[in-house]
Amino acid sequence: MDQQQLAELTEIVGIENISTAHSQRNLHGKDQSSHELVLPDAVVWPETTAQVSAIATFANANQIALTGWGAGSSLEGNSIPLQGGIVVDFGRMSQIVQTHSADFQVTVQPGIFYKDMNKTLAREGLFFAPDPGANASIGGMIANNAAGTRTVKYGATRDNVLALEVVLANGEIIRTGSRSIKQSAGYDLTHLFTGSEGTLGLITEATLRLHPLPEHFSAVVASFGNTPDAADAVYGIIGSGITPAACELLDANAVRYMNTLETVNLPEKPTLLLEFHGASIATIEAELAIVRDVCEECGAERFEVGVGRDERDRIWEGRHMLGEILFRIYPDSTYLITDVSVPISAYPVLAAYTNALFAELNIKGSLFGHAGDGNLHTVNFASKEDAEQQKMLQTFNDYVVHKAIELGGTCTGEHGVGIGKQKYMVYEHGEAAVGVMRQIKRMFDPNNILNPGKVVTI
Ligand SMILES: Cc1cc2nc3c(=O)[nH]c(=O)nc-3n(C[C@H](O)[C@H](O)[C@H](O)COP(=O)(O)OP(=O)(O)OC[C@H]3O[C@@H](n4cnc5c(N)ncnc54)[C@H](O)[C@@H]3O)c2cc1C
Repeated sequence: MDQQQLAELTEIVGIENISTAHSQRNLHGKDQSSHELVLPDAVVWPETTAQVSAIATFANANQIALTGWGAGSSLEGNSIPLQGGIVVDFGRMSQIVQTHSADFQVTVQPGIFYKDMNKTLAREGLFFAPDPGANASIGGMIANNAAGTRTVKYGATRDNVLALEVVLANGEIIRTGSRSIKQSAGYDLTHLFTGSEGTLGLITEATLRLHPLPEHFSAVVASFGNTPDAADAVYGIIGSGITPAACELLDANAVRYMNTLETVNLPEKPTLLLEFHGASIATIEAELAIVRDVCEECGAERFEVGVGRDERDRIWEGRHMLGEILFRIYPDSTYLITDVSVPISAYPVLAAYTNALFAELNIKGSLFGHAGDGNLHTVNFASKEDAEQQKMLQTFNDYVVHKAIELGGTCTGEHGVGIGKQKYMVYEHGEAAVGVMRQIKRMFDPNNILNPGKVVTI
């Protein structure tokens, strides 16, 4: 961007809402993945939808790239401004616009972080269920269709978005969806923007579906002799028609990493962390009896039920911190995170295959995932100096992705396509379907200014 363009942009947002300082460009040039940093020319913090609209109109006229920014916690390079240009940080649009308690809904600006929003909503006995490990922004969660430990019962972000306000590439402001739970009025634009990684429009407001905080809950920790047995139990539980509020699989390495926290002390075995929510204790107890039977049939060595609230909170905090713990333990390594997801009946096959691959390819890493919805992650590490080992991480990922797709699944359950998953798009969807995606991108963004180079390239 030249001086004249920077002056015009400053005019739009005000001197207090723009920076070209190296430190700010640096902070907004990289997400939490291993993908390379790319510096934007400028970072802006709009305060209103009208300003976002003016920024888009200006960028479109000047063909300058525009990349939305929430918390920058993406894991696939989603928020890296590949072509420089302007990063639009929504941190100053972070208000709750209105809580519709009677309908279990809330309307918010995109920059609010979901944990902060949930703290406020808890006062009214409500919560937004999707809970990624990082304290992500609502705009970033919608753009990536994030999910988390509670998705097995409450759905991913996509299932919990009712309506949006979006600024299009040409600056036009549109509203999609409604506050009705049912809607059949035309094409579903709300869910087209959800998961589009900021490549079709910039979200400036969202109405979300909430749930009442559960009256009763029970948490379970089940330990197994090996990872495939634990994965068998996942299918057994979900296949029996029970819907846990969380069903997480951790291999022994993942538990070992969590135990580095003083607050967590789990047996270092392949483990299922389960949680059940219900309106009465009796319903939960009936479900727990079935779950115990399933786990024991699958060879559980230990089944601890009725974990108290404090311990349960400590374990979940440890689970949510797993990614950060790993990054801290291997600060000098490069890493690759897999994020495949399959139909639940295929989960044991996928988990056993992936588990065996660690030894086969001599890879250092650990396996875990939101198992109840068929999602499996591994975080694998290689020395920054060892090019061969780094190549092996890619090979590992290729094998796991191909296996997941062969089993009827996807290359990414929740992290999105970003930069890292584009090479699998045709394999997963076919040329024709990816061609339709390109046409959609061209229609919404003919000048290719919105987060260019992500999801599909045109
Ligand atoms: C330790 C750790 C654990 C994680 N665990 C999970 C997990 O369990 N589940 C999961 O799904 N993810 C997880 N993630 C990934 C990440 O938190 C999610 O992808 C999250 O949705 C990113 O939100 P963000 O606010 O950081 O978005 P950003 O990274 O800032 O942006 C994400 C994408 O959204 C676009 N964008 C941002 N704001 C807007 C807007 N207003 N309008 C349009 N586009 C916009 C960006 O351009 C980018 O493409 C984890 C990440 C970390 C670091």
